[in-house]
Amino acid sequence: MTIAHQLLKINQAIHAAARESGRQEDAVTLVVVTKNRSVQQIQEAISAGQRHFGESYLQEAVLKINALKDDALQWHFIGTIQSNKTRLVAEHFSWVHSVTRCEIAERLNAERPQYLPPLNVCVQINISHETTKSGLAPEALSDFMKCFKALSRLRLRGFMVIPRQTQDFQEQLKIYNEVTQIFRAFIAEGWQIDTLSMGMSNDFRAAICAGSTMVRLGRAIFSKEKE
Ligand SMILES: *Cc1c(COP(=O)(O)O)cnc(C)c1O
Repeated sequence: MTIAHQLLKINQAIHAAARESGRQEDAVTLVVVTKNRSVQQIQEAISAGQRHFGESYLQEAVLKINALKDDALQWHFIGTIQSNKTRLVAEHFSWVHSVTRCEIAERLNAERPQYLPPLNVCVQINISHETTKSGLAPEALSDFMKCFKALSRLRLRGFMVIPRQTQDFQEQLKIYNEVTQIFRAFIAEGWQIDTLSMGMSNDFRAAICAGSTMVRLGRAIFSKEKE
């Protein structure tokens, strides 16, 4: 199975899930997660029309971004951000999904180059209350989001979540629906946010049914390559 073929199949599955949840086919953006994948694999995806790519390891990501040097691509940083590495993120990415501290947001804001548009940011929520995962508890969000008000080089777009893994569709749906409710509550309060980054290879259909606008898929695209 080629990467192009797999992308076609996954895009069809994304469109079908969006339609089933009563939304437009193009309501969900596919971010192809390329951590541990080669520049050549990314090039194959680009040739097949893919433009959004996600990376979680900064040094590996910067090497690939510089090797590809393509302004048409949008790179999404989805990993843990260390405070001494914010400049590299601010200079190389269009999106960051994993902001959980004001200090990090302030650094990204100060280091975002003037020649680039504002950096799109999602706040990572820890919805399953897992102590091993990063992300803010839902109760902490209201206070935390105030820190974006003064940061003009960042554009707060919404939330990202990595829930506890389960193969049970109803369980996946329940957790993602909780995130959607939080998202809608902030919109009702007047926040202009439009992005719910939720859904990975094992649960993207449930995430889309619950209202996801952005899925981050790695294995679903690449693991069938050798078959
Ligand atoms: C690796 C990763 C993904 C992709 O996971 P798959 O199961 O390969 O689809 C998505 N989001 C984050 C934050 C990741 O680190």
